[in-house]
Amino acid sequence: MSVPINLVVLGPPGAGKGTQAVVFAQQRGIPKISTGDILRDAVQSGTELGQRAKATMDAGGLVDDQLMIAIVRERLGRADVASGFVLDGFPRTVAQATALDEIMSGQGALAVVDIAVPDDALVARLALRRVCGQCGNTTTVAAGAEVPPCERCGGELVLRSDDTEEVVRERLRVYADATKPLVDYYSSRPTFRAVDGNQAPDAVGAALNGAVDDILRELAVSGAAAGGDR
Ligand code: AMP
Repeated sequence: MSVPINLVVLGPPGAGKGTQAVVFAQQRGIPKISTGDILRDAVQSGTELGQRAKATMDAGGLVDDQLMIAIVRERLGRADVASGFVLDGFPRTVAQATALDEIMSGQGALAVVDIAVPDDALVARLALRRVCGQCGNTTTVAAGAEVPPCERCGGELVLRSDDTEEVVRERLRVYADATKPLVDYYSSRPTFRAVDGNQAPDAVGAALNGAVDDILRELAVSGAAAGGDR
Protein backbone atom coordinates (compact mmCIF):
# COMPACT_ATOMS: atom_id res chain seq x y z
CA MET A 1 0.00 0.00 0.00
CA SER A 2 1.36 3.44 -0.84
CA VAL A 3 2.06 5.96 1.92
CA PRO A 4 -0.83 8.43 2.40
CA ILE A 5 0.00 12.04 1.55
CA ASN A 6 -1.26 14.07 4.51
CA LEU A 7 -0.35 17.55 3.34
CA VAL A 8 -0.75 20.86 5.15
CA VAL A 9 -0.25 23.88 2.91
CA LEU A 10 0.81 26.94 4.88
CA GLY A 11 1.17 30.49 3.62
CA PRO A 12 -0.24 34.00 4.02
CA PRO A 13 -3.56 35.12 2.49
CA GLY A 14 -3.01 35.49 -1.24
CA ALA A 15 -0.03 33.11 -1.40
CA GLY A 16 -1.97 30.87 -3.77
CA LYS A 17 -2.59 28.08 -1.24
CA GLY A 18 -6.11 27.40 -2.49
CA THR A 19 -5.13 27.29 -6.16
CA GLN A 20 -2.15 25.05 -5.49
CA ALA A 21 -4.13 22.81 -3.15
CA VAL A 22 -6.84 22.18 -5.80
CA VAL A 23 -4.33 21.24 -8.48
CA PHE A 24 -2.21 19.10 -6.17
CA ALA A 25 -5.24 17.23 -4.81
CA GLN A 26 -6.48 16.53 -8.36
CA GLN A 27 -3.05 15.32 -9.50
CA ARG A 28 -2.69 12.97 -6.53
CA GLY A 29 -6.34 11.86 -6.38
CA ILE A 30 -6.90 12.95 -2.79
CA PRO A 31 -9.48 15.35 -1.29
CA LYS A 32 -8.72 19.02 -0.74
CA ILE A 33 -10.09 20.26 2.55
CA SER A 34 -10.34 24.04 2.77
CA THR A 35 -11.71 25.41 6.03
CA GLY A 36 -12.37 28.75 4.30
CA ASP A 37 -14.54 26.95 1.70
CA ILE A 38 -16.37 25.01 4.42
CA LEU A 39 -17.13 28.28 6.24
CA ARG A 40 -18.15 30.16 3.06
CA ASP A 41 -20.53 27.30 2.13
CA ALA A 42 -22.01 27.47 5.63
CA VAL A 43 -22.47 31.25 5.34
CA GLN A 44 -24.12 30.89 1.94
CA SER A 45 -26.53 28.20 3.09
CA GLY A 46 -27.30 30.13 6.30
CA THR A 47 -26.52 27.25 8.68
CA GLU A 48 -25.84 27.86 12.38
CA LEU A 49 -22.11 27.54 11.70
CA GLY A 50 -22.39 30.14 8.94
CA GLN A 51 -24.28 32.53 11.18
CA ARG A 52 -21.64 32.17 13.89
CA ALA A 53 -18.69 32.63 11.50
CA LYS A 54 -19.91 35.40 9.18
CA ALA A 55 -19.11 38.52 11.21
CA THR A 56 -15.64 37.24 12.13
CA MET A 57 -14.84 36.38 8.51
CA ASP A 58 -16.10 39.74 7.23
CA ALA A 59 -13.83 41.51 9.72
CA GLY A 60 -10.79 39.43 8.69
CA GLY A 61 -10.51 37.74 12.10
CA LEU A 62 -10.15 34.08 13.01
CA VAL A 63 -13.08 31.84 13.84
CA ASP A 64 -12.91 30.21 17.27
CA ASP A 65 -10.26 27.44 17.58
CA GLN A 66 -12.54 24.88 19.20
CA LEU A 67 -15.14 25.27 16.46
CA MET A 68 -12.51 24.92 13.71
CA ILE A 69 -10.90 21.92 15.40
CA ALA A 70 -14.28 20.17 15.68
CA ILE A 71 -14.96 20.78 11.95
CA VAL A 72 -11.58 19.36 10.92
CA ARG A 73 -11.76 16.42 13.35
CA GLU A 74 -15.09 15.42 11.81
CA ARG A 75 -13.82 15.88 8.25
CA LEU A 76 -10.62 13.87 8.81
CA GLY A 77 -12.73 11.07 10.29
CA ARG A 78 -14.34 10.37 6.91
CA ALA A 79 -13.32 7.41 4.76
CA ASP A 80 -12.17 9.44 1.73
CA VAL A 81 -8.99 10.60 3.50
CA ALA A 82 -7.54 7.07 3.63
CA SER A 83 -5.08 7.85 0.79
CA GLY A 84 -4.35 11.28 2.21
CA PHE A 85 -5.63 14.85 1.98
CA VAL A 86 -4.57 18.42 1.36
CA LEU A 87 -5.45 20.85 4.14
CA ASP A 88 -5.78 24.47 2.99
CA GLY A 89 -6.35 27.17 5.63
CA PHE A 90 -5.97 24.87 8.64
CA PRO A 91 -4.16 24.99 11.01
CA ARG A 92 -4.05 28.75 11.50
CA THR A 93 -2.99 28.90 15.13
CA VAL A 94 -0.60 26.90 17.28
CA ALA A 95 -3.63 25.56 19.22
CA GLN A 96 -5.08 24.21 15.95
CA ALA A 97 -1.70 22.69 15.00
CA THR A 98 -1.42 20.94 18.37
CA ALA A 99 -4.96 19.58 17.94
CA LEU A 100 -4.11 18.39 14.41
CA ASP A 101 -1.10 16.49 15.76
CA GLU A 102 -3.40 14.81 18.24
CA ILE A 103 -6.02 14.01 15.56
CA MET A 104 -3.28 12.53 13.33
CA SER A 105 -1.54 10.54 16.02
CA GLY A 106 -1.18 6.99 14.73
CA GLN A 107 -2.70 8.03 11.36
CA GLY A 108 0.54 8.66 9.44
CA ALA A 109 2.95 11.53 9.06
CA LEU A 110 2.04 15.12 8.21
CA ALA A 111 3.88 16.80 5.34
CA VAL A 112 3.97 20.59 5.78
CA VAL A 113 4.83 22.97 2.94
CA ASP A 114 4.96 26.74 3.45
CA ILE A 115 4.32 28.88 0.36
CA ALA A 116 6.32 32.01 1.15
CA VAL A 117 5.43 35.37 -0.46
CA PRO A 118 6.52 38.90 0.61
CA ASP A 119 3.77 41.18 2.00
CA ASP A 120 3.79 43.83 -0.75
CA ALA A 121 3.25 41.16 -3.42
CA LEU A 122 0.28 39.79 -1.42
CA VAL A 123 -1.59 43.09 -1.21
CA ALA A 124 -1.22 43.59 -4.97
CA ARG A 125 -2.38 40.04 -5.72
CA LEU A 126 -5.43 40.12 -3.45
CA ALA A 127 -6.66 43.34 -5.09
CA LEU A 128 -6.83 41.40 -8.38
CA ARG A 129 -8.34 38.18 -6.99
CA ARG A 130 -11.93 37.47 -8.01
CA VAL A 131 -14.22 34.60 -7.18
CA CYS A 132 -17.08 33.30 -9.31
CA GLY A 133 -20.41 33.94 -7.59
CA GLN A 134 -21.81 30.86 -9.33
CA CYS A 135 -19.20 28.05 -9.18
CA GLY A 136 -16.71 29.41 -6.61
CA ASN A 137 -13.73 29.28 -8.99
CA THR A 138 -10.96 31.68 -7.94
CA THR A 139 -9.02 33.61 -10.55
CA THR A 140 -6.74 36.63 -10.96
CA VAL A 141 -7.85 39.45 -13.27
CA ALA A 142 -5.66 41.90 -15.19
CA ALA A 143 -5.06 45.27 -13.50
CA GLY A 144 -7.13 48.10 -14.96
CA ALA A 145 -8.99 45.87 -17.44
CA GLU A 146 -12.71 45.04 -17.51
CA VAL A 147 -13.48 41.93 -15.41
CA PRO A 148 -14.40 39.03 -17.75
CA PRO A 149 -16.98 36.33 -16.94
CA CYS A 150 -15.83 33.12 -15.18
CA GLU A 151 -13.87 31.02 -17.66
CA ARG A 152 -15.31 27.84 -16.15
CA CYS A 153 -19.05 28.54 -16.06
CA GLY A 154 -19.62 32.06 -17.44
CA GLY A 155 -20.80 33.31 -14.03
CA GLU A 156 -20.04 36.77 -12.67
CA LEU A 157 -16.61 37.25 -11.05
CA VAL A 158 -16.79 39.29 -7.86
CA LEU A 159 -14.39 40.54 -5.18
CA ARG A 160 -14.47 38.26 -2.14
CA SER A 161 -16.14 40.20 0.70
CA ASP A 162 -12.94 39.83 2.76
CA ASP A 163 -10.61 40.96 -0.05
CA THR A 164 -11.33 44.66 0.40
CA GLU A 165 -8.19 46.66 1.22
CA GLU A 166 -9.12 47.27 4.85
CA VAL A 167 -9.96 43.61 5.55
CA VAL A 168 -6.87 42.39 3.68
CA ARG A 169 -4.69 44.51 5.97
CA GLU A 170 -6.39 42.99 9.00
CA ARG A 171 -5.99 39.46 7.59
CA LEU A 172 -2.27 40.05 7.02
CA ARG A 173 -1.94 41.40 10.57
CA VAL A 174 -3.78 38.35 11.95
CA TYR A 175 -1.56 36.11 9.83
CA ALA A 176 1.65 37.66 11.18
CA ASP A 177 0.32 37.43 14.71
CA ALA A 178 -1.40 34.05 14.89
CA THR A 179 -0.38 31.98 11.86
CA LYS A 180 3.25 32.84 11.12
CA PRO A 181 4.31 31.22 14.43
CA LEU A 182 3.23 27.95 12.81
CA VAL A 183 6.30 28.09 10.58
CA ASP A 184 8.40 27.95 13.77
CA TYR A 185 6.14 25.22 15.15
CA TYR A 186 6.77 22.97 12.14
CA SER A 187 10.11 24.09 10.70
CA SER A 188 12.35 21.82 12.74
CA ARG A 189 10.52 18.70 11.53
CA PRO A 190 12.11 16.61 8.77
CA THR A 191 8.72 16.72 6.99
CA PHE A 192 8.68 20.53 6.62
CA ARG A 193 9.67 22.42 3.45
CA ALA A 194 9.33 26.06 2.34
CA VAL A 195 8.83 26.93 -1.33
CA ASP A 196 9.08 30.28 -3.11
CA GLY A 197 5.52 31.43 -3.79
CA ASN A 198 6.60 34.61 -5.55
CA GLN A 199 6.70 33.09 -9.02
CA ALA A 200 4.23 31.93 -11.70
CA PRO A 201 1.57 29.46 -10.45
CA ASP A 202 2.98 26.57 -12.54
CA ALA A 203 6.44 27.12 -11.08
CA VAL A 204 4.99 27.18 -7.54
CA GLY A 205 3.10 23.96 -8.36
CA ALA A 206 6.28 22.28 -9.55
CA ALA A 207 8.11 23.40 -6.39
CA LEU A 208 5.24 22.10 -4.24
CA ASN A 209 5.27 18.71 -5.99
CA GLY A 210 9.05 18.52 -5.64
CA ALA A 211 8.87 19.36 -1.94
CA VAL A 212 6.19 16.73 -1.25
CA ASP A 213 8.11 14.03 -3.17
CA ASP A 214 11.19 14.95 -1.20
CA ILE A 215 9.25 14.60 2.08
CA LEU A 216 7.85 11.22 0.96
CA ARG A 217 11.39 10.02 0.21
CA GLU A 218 12.47 11.25 3.61
CA LEU A 219 9.61 9.32 5.24
CA ALA A 220 10.41 6.17 3.26
CA VAL A 221 14.05 6.32 4.39
CA SER A 222 13.26 7.04 8.02
CA GLY A 223 10.36 4.57 8.11
CA ALA A 224 8.50 7.21 10.07
CA ALA A 225 5.32 6.88 7.99
CA ALA A 226 4.82 3.26 8.93
CA GLY A 227 5.23 4.10 12.60
CA GLY A 228 2.87 7.07 12.43
CA ASP A 229 5.66 9.37 13.56
CA ARG A 230 5.52 13.05 12.78
P1 AMP B 1 -9.46 31.47 3.71
O1 AMP B 1 -10.34 31.16 2.55
O2 AMP B 1 -8.60 30.29 4.12
O3 AMP B 1 -8.66 32.73 3.51
O4 AMP B 1 -10.43 31.74 4.96
C1 AMP B 1 -11.35 32.81 4.97
C2 AMP B 1 -11.71 33.19 6.39
O5 AMP B 1 -12.31 32.06 7.06
C3 AMP B 1 -10.54 33.56 7.27
O6 AMP B 1 -10.15 34.92 7.12
C4 AMP B 1 -11.09 33.27 8.67
O7 AMP B 1 -12.00 34.27 9.08
C5 AMP B 1 -11.90 32.01 8.42
N1 AMP B 1 -11.08 30.77 8.60
C6 AMP B 1 -10.75 29.85 7.65
N2 AMP B 1 -10.00 28.87 8.17
C7 AMP B 1 -9.85 29.16 9.48
C8 AMP B 1 -9.17 28.54 10.57
N3 AMP B 1 -8.45 27.41 10.40
N4 AMP B 1 -9.22 29.14 11.79
C9 AMP B 1 -9.92 30.28 11.99
N5 AMP B 1 -10.59 30.92 11.01
C10 AMP B 1 -10.56 30.38 9.77
